[in-house]
Amino acid sequence: MPIVYVGLGSNRGDKEKNILKAITLLKENGQKILKTSSIYKTKPYGYKEQKDFLNAVVKLRTKLNPENFLILCKKIESEIGRKKSFRLGPREIDLDILFFGKRVIKNKKLTIPHKDLHNREFVLRPLREISPNLIHPVLKKRIAKINNVIIGEKKIR
Ligand code: AMP
Repeated sequence: MPIVYVGLGSNRGDKEKNILKAITLLKENGQKILKTSSIYKTKPYGYKEQKDFLNAVVKLRTKLNPENFLILCKKIESEIGRKKSFRLGPREIDLDILFFGKRVIKNKKLTIPHKDLHNREFVLRPLREISPNLIHPVLKKRIAKINNVIIGEKKIR
C-alpha cells in the first residue's frame, strides 16, 4: 500500500483546529497516519495581503488510488467548511498531495509530486522534520538536500 505525504494549510477561522480536524478526518476515512509534523506558522505565499498560515505535513498509508485520494481530500476540505476563494487566497483548509509513493503523475486533475513543493519552505520544513531522507522522484534529491530559503516560518507546537 502506497505511502502518501499530504501538506495541510489553514489561514482562516480556528487554524490549528482546522489542521487537527483534517488529520482526524483522514483517520476516520480509513487512512493510516504514520507521522505528523509539528505545526508551523508561516507567511502567506504568492498573494501576500492575507493572514499568516499554519502548515503541517502528514505521512500516511492508503488503500486508495491517487484519483480517489484527491476526492477524499476535497471531501475533507468541504467538510471543514472551505469556501470558494481565489488561487493562493485565504482558506479554512487546504490539502495538497505532495507525494504518492514514487509515482509521477501529470494529468488535468493531478500533478504528483506537487508541482511547486520544492519552492515552498512551508512544505519543505515540515517534510524535512519527518522524512529528511525521502527522495523526490523527479528531482532525484533527498528532501534534506532541497533548500529554499524563505524566512519567517516559526514552529508553534
Ligand atoms: P487548490 O485550490 O490549491 O486546493 O487546488 C485544487 C486543485 O488542484 C484540485 O482540484 C486538483 O485537481 C488540482 N491538483 C493538481 N495537483 C494536485 C495535488 N498534487 N494535490 C492536490 N490538488 C492537486
